[in-house]
Amino acid sequence: RAPWRPVTLDDLPLRDDLRGMSPYGAPQIDVPVRLNTNENPHPPSAGLVDALGKAATLAATEANRYPDREAEALRADLAYYLTPDAGFGVHAAQVWAANGSNEILQQLCQAFGGPGRVAVGFEPSYSMHRLIALATATDWVAESRAADFTLEADRVTAAIRRHRPALLFLCSPNNPTATALGTEVIAAACDAMAEVSSGVVVVDEAYGEFRRAGVPSALTLLPDHPRLVVTRTMSKAFALAGARVGYLAAHPAVVDALQLVRLPYHLSSFTQAVARTALAHADELLGTVDAVKAQRDLLVRSLPEFGCVTAPSDANFVLFGHFTDQRAVWQGLLDAGVLVRDVGLDGWLRVTAGLPNEMESFLDALRRVLTARP
Ligand code: PMP
Repeated sequence: RAPWRPVTLDDLPLRDDLRGMSPYGAPQIDVPVRLNTNENPHPPSAGLVDALGKAATLAATEANRYPDREAEALRADLAYYLTPDAGFGVHAAQVWAANGSNEILQQLCQAFGGPGRVAVGFEPSYSMHRLIALATATDWVAESRAADFTLEADRVTAAIRRHRPALLFLCSPNNPTATALGTEVIAAACDAMAEVSSGVVVVDEAYGEFRRAGVPSALTLLPDHPRLVVTRTMSKAFALAGARVGYLAAHPAVVDALQLVRLPYHLSSFTQAVARTALAHADELLGTVDAVKAQRDLLVRSLPEFGCVTAPSDANFVLFGHFTDQRAVWQGLLDAGVLVRDVGLDGWLRVTAGLPNEMESFLDALRRVLTARP
């Protein structure tokens, strides 16, 4: 017998607006080929494992002390890392770091959202934008994309004029469609926001490093747009999802605002040490990006041979379809030991670019599933 009496959510003083919600959860199933959470498939090299371990050991010698509350050194390292993509000298005062970019997004909603305020996003997009808005009691308005999932400036500025949001979420490259936004769309969004409200434009660039050549980062717009916030993560290109490090670049005033809502010492000394060590090995880690992009491009080339439709991808994943029953295809792949993502988009599935042998297993399994069930 359980040592506690049965209690359900209904018995708890849960906030009314949280009742009936489901927690975010990509299935974590132990199968041979996991291509469902857009991780980088390359584990750290033996040399890097050693360096990360030494950094953690050094941090352990001062584990009785709280970490640097402002993560000054890490922010300086991140600013240095962002500088080439930004095209100007990014300063540590323009950078903020937290436990994954999810925590960055949460802090943005805590600082700029809240009761009576609206956040707008263009779905399908990263579902946590909506969930984090709702969890911080920010109203969520879902605007749509064009049928081919593209997003034009007119659609964005019309939504801004209609809703006067406190936060506008753009995701580039967008999860799950893998498409990147032109900087003209982001600039138009910033101008429209400045015209109608004091809201911020959040460009989620979690997959920024996987952009194809010639697609500029939203970082390049920062000098001209004080209400632009660009979020990034070390979970994808840096192959460091387990360490939970996300960050943003924005006007220093935005960083000041986030200091009001962050928990004191939110970023552990171990996290800061490990992140700085990974940044010191940026060349090695980012070397995996080209390998991942090659597998991504292989997917984009191969999937049409199976009769599948794909969008051009600027990320480390590909959205593919169009199936009459995507759930059955998902299950068929899983039965063959390959886990992809059903993002709840009718007819579509999402697959992460993995190692060459994982791509072979995926394409093999897909061939078999589609032959059995067109
Ligand atoms: N933004 C996007 C678009 C994502 O796809 C993800 C992770 N799947 C995140 C943010 C959050 O990543 P993390 O918290 O690991 O930085």
